[in-house]
Amino acid sequence: MNADLHCHSTVSDGLLAPIEVVRRAHANGVELLALTDHDELKGLAEAKAEAKALGMRFVDGVEVSVSWGDDTTVHVIALGIDPANVQLVEGLVRVRAGRDARALRMAAELDKVGIHGAYEGALRFAGNPALVSRAHMARFIVEQGLARDAKSVFDHWLAKGKPGYVSHAWATLEEAISWIHGAGGVAVVAHPGRYRLTKAALRKLLTEFKACGGDGIEVLSGSQWAGDVDEMATLARTFGLLASTGSDFHGPGESWIDLGRMPALPPDLVPVWTRLH
Ligand code: AMP
Ligand code: MN
Ligand code: MN
Ligand code: MN
Repeated sequence: MNADLHCHSTVSDGLLAPIEVVRRAHANGVELLALTDHDELKGLAEAKAEAKALGMRFVDGVEVSVSWGDDTTVHVIALGIDPANVQLVEGLVRVRAGRDARALRMAAELDKVGIHGAYEGALRFAGNPALVSRAHMARFIVEQGLARDAKSVFDHWLAKGKPGYVSHAWATLEEAISWIHGAGGVAVVAHPGRYRLTKAALRKLLTEFKACGGDGIEVLSGSQWAGDVDEMATLARTFGLLASTGSDFHGPGESWIDLGRMPALPPDLVPVWTRLH
């Protein structure tokens, strides 16, 4: 099964419209696709209609921003949710509500280190202030010629501990999982290898995730080091979590891996799609 259960469109910080994401996934041989924009469901109807026209299976998804522990941002992928569920929709409105003010605070910090106009610059890329993200700010900084790519912008300015980073309160783990379950979906920890947690802290995260009823883990992610797969597979087995896979595709040239180009999951794991209809 060529499944890609994590990717982005222009609805959040991706570069392609939802319909283009679906067409590209289909052209790349994807058989089961989930669109998972950050904190927003708006692209799902367009994507689902195009997937249907192409005869490709499609799952409604979203990537929920969560704050966990001592200022760690964790992403939780929701799969198979009902996009009309009121509690989920209202929860996501609340999560998005902080983005605009956060971007202003980030831009004020960047201004102090000589990067001017980052708020307006990021908004040009984001379109919608409620969805402005560090990815948009990174595109502006690259456009200014101050860095060669987004990764280097994060390394210098936007990652935790760097001058443009400001802490932010997203949803709690309990909230995100309860919204997802309330909407009939499955909750998956996104790219667990990317949080720079110690092994002990990652186990603590998964222990709490399980205690809240969390269902799965991305064993394979286009945005974590490919060598992490053995560790993540072991964690899936230990914690009894379903295994998920996704490219985390944001756009041509911006992602490590294209849609539908992930390797197969370790065969003994239970794939998350066994729980999706
Ligand atoms: P935000 O939700 O505003 O905190 O932005 C997070 C987004 O920034 C992620 O979803 C990625 O698209 C992007 N991002 C995070 N870290 C990096 C990185 N090291 N290099 C490139 N993009 C990144
Ligand atoms: Mn992103
Ligand atoms: Mn993410
Ligand atoms: Mn993502």
